[in-house]
Amino acid sequence: MATSDAPDPNPEFDTSQPTIARVYDALLGGKDNFAADREGAALYLKYVPDAGRCAIENREALVKGVHYLARRAGIDQFLDIGSGLPTQKNTHEAAQEINPNAKVAYVDNDPIVLAHGRALLATNNSTIVVTSDLRRPQEILDNEEIKNHLDFSRPIALMIVGIHMHFHDDEKPDEWVRTLMDALVPGSYLFITDFVDTGEPLQKGMERAGLESLGNGWIRTPERIEQHFLGMPLVPPGLDFLARWFPEDPDADIPAVEDLQPYQRILMAGLAKKV
Ligand code: SAM
Repeated sequence: MATSDAPDPNPEFDTSQPTIARVYDALLGGKDNFAADREGAALYLKYVPDAGRCAIENREALVKGVHYLARRAGIDQFLDIGSGLPTQKNTHEAAQEINPNAKVAYVDNDPIVLAHGRALLATNNSTIVVTSDLRRPQEILDNEEIKNHLDFSRPIALMIVGIHMHFHDDEKPDEWVRTLMDALVPGSYLFITDFVDTGEPLQKGMERAGLESLGNGWIRTPERIEQHFLGMPLVPPGLDFLARWFPEDPDADIPAVEDLQPYQRILMAGLAKKV
């Protein structure tokens, strides 16, 4: 699908309103977005001029986490919910460059992800794309395609990367994730990135951009983000800003928090193991 300002000939998509997946694609520099999405992305850039770099750092953190899981933790099954468009470098590429047999199930509630994914992954038997909703975790667990693709008697990495911010705490998103984690065996992992609130104006700007463009995109304190992990132990270095988060090498030369650019203090990542 090409970038277009013309009405979308595919009635499956409402292109008059921005969607999270397409705004994110626009921020990542992708082509699968429409005028309303680019207006949404422009609002982000108005309040956070480096919002595109935040999106890129988020994808880089995703790759760091998947490499840790595939290489160090021996994980070969990934359930990636809120996967976004499988463009740029995404989970299947990161996992399968370490283990070509790694299986990935992408789940997203935006139908554009399925439409795009079908074409892109037509030749990749180890990866599937399913349209479903994190708000209905049991539906994800009961999905026949997912059940046929992933072996739930073996460890699975559940990825909820760059999606929590789109839910208000009143919706209790941690309960949806708990339902999913309860279905996974010990040795499985939970990988999360989220918008953080440590009192910085640019973090507030990110929230404002999200609320004005998409009607969601809340920031949370690090203490609140830690609760997403449902009490499971975090893999070193624990929860940290993306640019400081190196699970494969927690002793690497980590920049001090004060040395990070303000845009690098908007997202945090963490990885927990079910024991
Ligand atoms: N995980 C990818 C990454 O970090 O690069 C993409 C993150 S993107 C910011 C958030 C994605 O979550 C979008 O593709 C959006 O469509 C999807 N999403 C939002 N709400 C969802 C829901 N309730 N269920 C499933 N996916 C959802």
